[in-house]
Amino acid sequence: MELLLLLLIPVIARWIIRFNQTGSLFPAFFLSAKHKDFLVQNFVYYQKLPPKSKQIFERRLALFISSKKFIPRQMNHVTWEMKVLISASAIQLTFGFPKVNLSWFRYILIFPETFYSQANKQHHKGEVNPKAKTIVLSWKYFVEGYLKPDGRNLGLHEMAHALRLENRIMNEEYNFLNHEVLEEWEVRARRTMEEIKNGSETFFREYGSTNNEEFFAVAVENFFERPVEFYSKHPKTYQTLCRLLRQDPVLLENT
Ligand SMILES: [Zn+2]
Repeated sequence: MELLLLLLIPVIARWIIRFNQTGSLFPAFFLSAKHKDFLVQNFVYYQKLPPKSKQIFERRLALFISSKKFIPRQMNHVTWEMKVLISASAIQLTFGFPKVNLSWFRYILIFPETFYSQANKQHHKGEVNPKAKTIVLSWKYFVEGYLKPDGRNLGLHEMAHALRLENRIMNEEYNFLNHEVLEEWEVRARRTMEEIKNGSETFFREYGSTNNEEFFAVAVENFFERPVEFYSKHPKTYQTLCRLLRQDPVLLENT
């Protein structure tokens, strides 16, 4: 009996930590009908997936929602629609990695508009803070990102930063990006950043030349929003990103 109690202590401790962080005791494995309907109506990436992949997406989405704490800032509460769409952008990006749930990041902070960042004393639309294990998003700009397929998508941009950090920070699911492909990606990224700077490259917006992290985030936005154009303009870079993220959005375009 005492041994049983001793064995239960770490389990109960984990429940308490989990409950404090997310408000739920157990991870969810099934999406509610309400959440699924909303996804069916509003998330284009999901709409294009084959039936089997849709089921996987739903399960991963349920798990993601139940494992994060969504915190409202400068507004009263986070709606379930916000939780579904923001989580869906994380699953979209990580869909090629069945076990990656961005688990380093426990908190998702949501502001209605831009917010003032203490880190660099500027107004931001989004940021990722690995020390605070937090992803921060402006809801207005998150929605705008998905309304137009113009190569700008705040949700995917910030999730892309989170993905690279998740891969780098030692935690339960780090080091999942293939090293060789990542090296090849960095070489292509550096070359393209130079081209953006000297004006010979115009497909990616100028902000992509800021540094490697920003180029990756900007490339991810275009990878999902304009995959056919990305492939036709930069086939090798596109294919490298397909291998790095283990998925190919062009294949979804014809479904
Ligand atoms: Zn960025």
